[in-house]
Amino acid sequence: MSAPPGHVVVIGAGMAGLAAAHHLVAAGLEVVVLEARDRVGGRVEGGHVADGTPVELGGQWIGPTQNRMYQLVAELGLATFETYNRGSMIIDLLGRRTAVSGRRGAVPRLGPFGLADLAQGLARFTRLSRRTDLRRPWLSPDAQELDGQTLHTWIHRNLATPTGRAYFAVAAEAVFATDARDLSLLHALFYAHSGADLETLLAVDRGAQQHRVVGGSIRIAEVLADRLGDRIRLNAPVARIEHDDQGVTVIDRAGCREQADFALVTVPPTLAGRIDYAPALPSWRDQLTQRVPAGSVIKAHLAYDEPFWRADGLSGQAASDHGPVKVTFDNSPPEPGPGVLVAFAEGGDARRLARMSARERRDAVITRVTGYFGPRAGTVVDYLERDWMAQEFSRGCYGAHFAPGVWTGYGDALTRPVGRIHWAGAECSPVWNGYMEGAVRSGEDAAAAIIGRAAR
Ligand SMILES: Cc1cc2nc3c(=O)[nH]c(=O)nc-3n(C[C@H](O)[C@H](O)[C@H](O)COP(=O)(O)OP(=O)(O)OC[C@H]3O[C@@H](n4cnc5c(N)ncnc54)[C@H](O)[C@@H]3O)c2cc1C
Repeated sequence: MSAPPGHVVVIGAGMAGLAAAHHLVAAGLEVVVLEARDRVGGRVEGGHVADGTPVELGGQWIGPTQNRMYQLVAELGLATFETYNRGSMIIDLLGRRTAVSGRRGAVPRLGPFGLADLAQGLARFTRLSRRTDLRRPWLSPDAQELDGQTLHTWIHRNLATPTGRAYFAVAAEAVFATDARDLSLLHALFYAHSGADLETLLAVDRGAQQHRVVGGSIRIAEVLADRLGDRIRLNAPVARIEHDDQGVTVIDRAGCREQADFALVTVPPTLAGRIDYAPALPSWRDQLTQRVPAGSVIKAHLAYDEPFWRADGLSGQAASDHGPVKVTFDNSPPEPGPGVLVAFAEGGDARRLARMSARERRDAVITRVTGYFGPRAGTVVDYLERDWMAQEFSRGCYGAHFAPGVWTGYGDALTRPVGRIHWAGAECSPVWNGYMEGAVRSGEDAAAAIIGRAAR
């Protein structure tokens, strides 16, 4: 097997693959990006509602400390705007619906006992999470103990009130798109720490939901792709990677072959495990990819003539322990125009909705949102949803989560190259793991490692 020197095949044109390709090209390497879908962006996707208002079907918000994303937005000539976050948030917990003013749009003012309990729970969680080793979570203090229990177990041991427990569980679901019982506590701690702390992950002001990109986050992927030009081949799902000491041959489903010195696989870990490798990957890498399932999420946009909730003094945010939609935000455009609410169904709720017909699902989502914002929420002028579990080349979102025992058993297999095959993606980043920021950083880190090897 021989290939031109400094030639890299990048698999996947999501944020990680695009950022990596950009970096590799800038360093003078020859790059081909093979993308399975007929579009770039991966878990970032654009759509339109009502009169053509852009909305984000996948990843959308960026926030403080996601420095690489802000830099990239500026480098690409794009702009951001603030997520609407004025007025009260609807909290519907344990059968009680109240409109409460939210601190940062993250932790609402619940009743005194629930609030005190939640505050102590968050403080405890943050203290623990700060001890996690971001580069090697499996070497964190008490890693075995933390990785031997679920987040659900921890919530029940450390929060005393039903309100505190319910809110913490909803928060966990909103962040991980899975139920707290599915998650290793070590993973939850690592993940929160990789993006500052749990409160920052939940917050709008000074948090992960602070800004959107004008025109939608898909603009980032589109402008990066324009710069890469015909180096990107769409509709090219990679089926097999042959590799030896000399190089790699990457073969798509149509049988097209691409030879190179290195392959950089940027597809989510579970899907990376579905590619054929010849020779087969070492057991530690293959077993890792058997153990990192994607979360379950359906994201829906409900468009209205105007953002009517604002006149009622509401922020458009809702949080509830009662599905199928437990979280909403105001996703209206920055300029005056239609009102848009974005509604998330996560974990078991998403799985139940996925089994319904499109009509039943739409009705179930609109009915639940009407429960938060009143009858006007039933007067939708447009409805647009994306079931990420059904997407062949994602098979779930927002990202992969680690069940108990996975970090401590297989953590080092996540990014360790196998011969000439390197790995990247949002799941591989020690910083803002699971977010667009993590994807871009991980793509650039993997590209830098390949550039270093190619120079030898
Ligand atoms: C509903 C939703 C909401 C989200 N919200 C946010 C948010 O607000 N902020 C945030 O920062 N992040 C958010 N995220 C997460 C964020 O979108 C992802 O972390 C990030 O986009 C992942 O990028 P990636 O390049 O690592 O992976 P991907 O985007 O999954 O890229 C992998 C690419 O590989 C392609 N591919 C798969 N299999 C193959 C194959 N066999 N051959 C070739 N190509 C293949 C895929 O089509 C895809 O384009 C959200 C995600 C979703 C779905």
